[in-house]
Amino acid sequence: MSQPTAFSGSLFMVVAPSGAGKSTLVNALLAQEPAIKLSISTTTRAPRPGETHGKEYYFTNAEDFVARAQAGEFLEWAEVHGNYYGTSRIMVEQQMQTGTDILLEIDWQGARQVKKQFPQAAGIFILPPSIDALEERLNKRATDAPHVITRRLLAAGGEIAHAPEFEYVIINQDFSVALSELSAIVRAARCRFAQQAARNASLFAQLGIHAE
Ligand code: GDP
Ligand code: ADP
Ligand code: 5GP
Repeated sequence: MSQPTAFSGSLFMVVAPSGAGKSTLVNALLAQEPAIKLSISTTTRAPRPGETHGKEYYFTNAEDFVARAQAGEFLEWAEVHGNYYGTSRIMVEQQMQTGTDILLEIDWQGARQVKKQFPQAAGIFILPPSIDALEERLNKRATDAPHVITRRLLAAGGEIAHAPEFEYVIINQDFSVALSELSAIVRAARCRFAQQAARNASLFAQLGIHAE
């Protein structure tokens, strides 16, 4: 996929072990920053009570997912906790063409694939304050069966081991502090030279600023 030369938006990837607070943080960020477009992934996981097709995920079966993966429909995809998850390539391409900021809530395997295609994508890893807190949050959230929670907790260490691959790390202890840090990262990314130059092309030309 070829990237538009002057993509004025930013591509954010938020990654965390299950239960660290990723979706809660992302939803709170989007309430403050409605201009950011959240990519809705396709998954073979069964919907949790209260989840709606097209809102949290596009739910499908493994056969359909694999056929679509083979057809190249996903910008990235991965198997996570025994289910497939993938990001729509067309959605990301369309949003990039309009210069919109895009946020992907994906796992570390997917983040690696995206980073290869878009080295400027900002990777943000959310850490829980402790493994005990992670367990408590997964239990309190009460959206998964006990064996699913156990599986996710067992996977947490392996996921956390990939934190060093990310530029940004947020420790989600105090929720409001974590949210303000996430918001600060988004604002800083918007001030990067390439984003400012693409968004303010005529001002930069008037001021005689040329990219190196
Ligand atoms: P959560 O971890 O409690 O939010 O549970 P989910 O079932 O929603 O997500 C399971 C895992 O799949 C997480 O690590 C997500 O980040 C990851 N995931 C979700 N969507 C995608 C996707 O489109 N691509 C990839 N690669 N991973 C995804
Ligand atoms: P993830 O998307 O990473 O799996 P969630 O956003 O679903 O995690 O959060 C897991 C649970 O932890 C939710 O019930 C959420 O309300 C709670 N939670 C999130 N952040 C905090 C925090 N800073 N302190 C306490 N509980 C939190
Ligand atoms: P859950 O099943 O709890 O909704 O998500 C479990 C994990 O799947 C999360 O850590 C989430 O980040 C990851 N995930 C969700 N969507 C995608 C996706 O599109 N691609 C990848 N690679 N991982 C995803």
